[in-house]
Amino acid sequence: MAVRAGREFLAIPGPTTIPDEVLRAMHRPAVDMYSRPLVMLTDSLLNDLNRLFGNTGRCYIYIANGHGAWEAALTNVLSKGDKILVLESGRFALDWGDAAARLGVAIEILKGDWHRAVRPAEVEARLRMDKDGTIKAVLVVQIDTSSGCVNDIAAIGQVIRAVRHDALLMVDAVASLGCMPFEMDAWGVDVAMSGSQKGLMTPPGLGFVAASYRAHEAHQKAGLRTPYWDWTARDGNSHYQKYAGTPPEQLMFALRQALDMLFEEQLDSVFRRHRLLAEAVRRAVAVWTEGGAFAFNITEPRERSDAVTTVLVTDGRDPLKLQDYCETKCGVLLGAGFGQMKGKAFRIAHMGHVNAPTVLGVLGVIEMGLNALGIPHGRGGVQAAVEWLAESVNP
Ligand SMILES: *Cc1c(COP(=O)(O)O)cnc(C)c1O
Repeated sequence: MAVRAGREFLAIPGPTTIPDEVLRAMHRPAVDMYSRPLVMLTDSLLNDLNRLFGNTGRCYIYIANGHGAWEAALTNVLSKGDKILVLESGRFALDWGDAAARLGVAIEILKGDWHRAVRPAEVEARLRMDKDGTIKAVLVVQIDTSSGCVNDIAAIGQVIRAVRHDALLMVDAVASLGCMPFEMDAWGVDVAMSGSQKGLMTPPGLGFVAASYRAHEAHQKAGLRTPYWDWTARDGNSHYQKYAGTPPEQLMFALRQALDMLFEEQLDSVFRRHRLLAEAVRRAVAVWTEGGAFAFNITEPRERSDAVTTVLVTDGRDPLKLQDYCETKCGVLLGAGFGQMKGKAFRIAHMGHVNAPTVLGVLGVIEMGLNALGIPHGRGGVQAAVEWLAESVNP
């Protein structure tokens, strides 16, 4: 017996649920790529990306996923043999660093333990030792989707300035843009990148990069530039140059609709919605952990992200059974443990097009699975989530 007929729900950390309005916006024939409305659409998207990133420098739209945007960010400001510092907070920071290493950049990893966010004091100490300024850039992920931590980018930017180090601050905001604040200029971020398919509720296929003025200076000397990723080529006047070829028209229509929805709700409200729903998930998980079979992967409560929660299985049980139950019996897809946590954790995503019924539905299904599979857990997780939301959402 199953109770999964009806709409399947994605609680995986990307791709996320695409709103019907966004899907419908794409259902249009191709248009002349030089036509004025399309050129104006590009301008409006670039303007709104500036708004989302909080930067006054330039933004770029690539036909790429997050991995492509990683490469775009690296190749535009670095040269072979440059040294960079990678701040470990989970798998994604390491993978971005690995991409740099494969491009011929020398990487040093500032060790992290995957159960905590990056500690800015450790970044400060390392940069202080780098008296000759050999470190050209610092790479960090805002929300590391594997561990579920949120890094304090403002604090990291502050320590770089405090030690008067010239390293560029480069930030991965794939799992955080549209879910929580990002203030590129205010935080001293030089290069930020993101993708369309997580908080931005758009199909996979668009990568975004935002660059500060300092990043543009570094760009002049960057040796890794290639024809497709190169900012200079994309700064040209023709619309064709902005995408280094044919624009991704239907994805542009989709992104326009998604951004309209975010701005209509107002970004502050979008971020608050994410915070409230994430806390509802955390309240439920906290109750479940009382059974002794689970724990939060991130030990420090204030370092848990508002986009995804990683739950460790602590009694040696395979989390796949629970995931499988939720999917095949109830039509809810949970994220698997990733990287070091493969086979040892599951992830609940709460980013993008999420609301109280979807999040409470996911929590209800997990609790149903815990009961059906006889997995020990504290009773009343969903109840705790409901009480938190009822307290927080006033009549
Ligand atoms: C999903 C994700 C990526 C990778 O994005 P792809 O589109 O799968 O290449 C990179 N960084 C973070 C933090 C992510 O969550």
